[in-house]
Amino acid sequence: MTIHVVGNACVDTSFRLERLPQPGETHNALAASEGIGGKGANQAVAAARTGAKMTFWAPVGKDAAGDWVESQLADEIADLRLSRPNQPCDRSVILVDRGGENAIVTASACAEAFDPLETSDLSSVWRAGDTLLMQGNLHPDVTEQCLKAAQMAGLFTILNPSPLPASPLDLSLVSLLIVNRPEAEALTGATDITQAAGRLLAKGVQTVIITLGAAGALVQHASGHFYITAEKRDAVDTSGAGDCFAGTLAGLAAQGVTLADAARLATQAAAISVGRAGTLASFPTRAELAALTKTLKPKDM
Ligand code: ATP
Repeated sequence: MTIHVVGNACVDTSFRLERLPQPGETHNALAASEGIGGKGANQAVAAARTGAKMTFWAPVGKDAAGDWVESQLADEIADLRLSRPNQPCDRSVILVDRGGENAIVTASACAEAFDPLETSDLSSVWRAGDTLLMQGNLHPDVTEQCLKAAQMAGLFTILNPSPLPASPLDLSLVSLLIVNRPEAEALTGATDITQAAGRLLAKGVQTVIITLGAAGALVQHASGHFYITAEKRDAVDTSGAGDCFAGTLAGLAAQGVTLADAARLATQAAAISVGRAGTLASFPTRAELAALTKTLKPKDM
């Protein structure tokens, strides 16, 4: 079955600083780097590296930065379905201090205007039984329309609604919801994690996964819940851990791996990513993921 990742892609420019600047200050960075960013791109690359058959749908501006994003993604994803709107590529500037505290500024005009049902042939490419994976970067109405169309077409829908939209999405359109602990609390008002998961199920989601940082993840079905423990790592850089988890899990599940095994391997993949610097740069390689999936019993693949 094919997994269709629909979301955003941008250029991330990161500066490591002694401390974050106050208004009016100018600082020399300790180090600077540029890479592909955007939760859509991150999750799409993580899913592609599992070996899943997949497509990636995202808007990438029609400028030199957009050309660079396209060429970088083409190295990772065979079936790229980028649209190239006539505007500058989305980008983020990320400032990180020595303690790991960060401040981020994002320009996301391409993502905000992207409507793949209107402007692409997404809905004629997907098939019943395929998986749709989305995040929270597109306009909430567009996200909801895509989920609705996919559900009607018989797809398995996965939503990682990060960043959370201002108004709540219809969660009955979601087969599998992946949120981190603060998002689960914000969506439900519950600080107890099993209570939050229960309230999310009551909103119509079939299965909820709440990621718990170094503590792993909680998986909640209608029939009960279980925990996946993470191999705790001293975090070098946690940015992108959630994307690594979601993309890896979705990629494996789309290949028929059980949800429990896919979640277990996704925590292992995310643990690798937090032990290394960078976002996409820290994600496990195809070879590392293949080594992890070898630990599955044959019937699971
Ligand atoms: P981020 O915003 O940093 O990308 P997130 O807040 O969306 O992450 P988390 O719950 O912090 O998501 O982390 C996602 C997954 O990453 C966890 O479920 C866990 O498997 C793994 N993880 C995070 N921190 C650690 C750690 N210190 N050691 C091992 N695994 C970790």
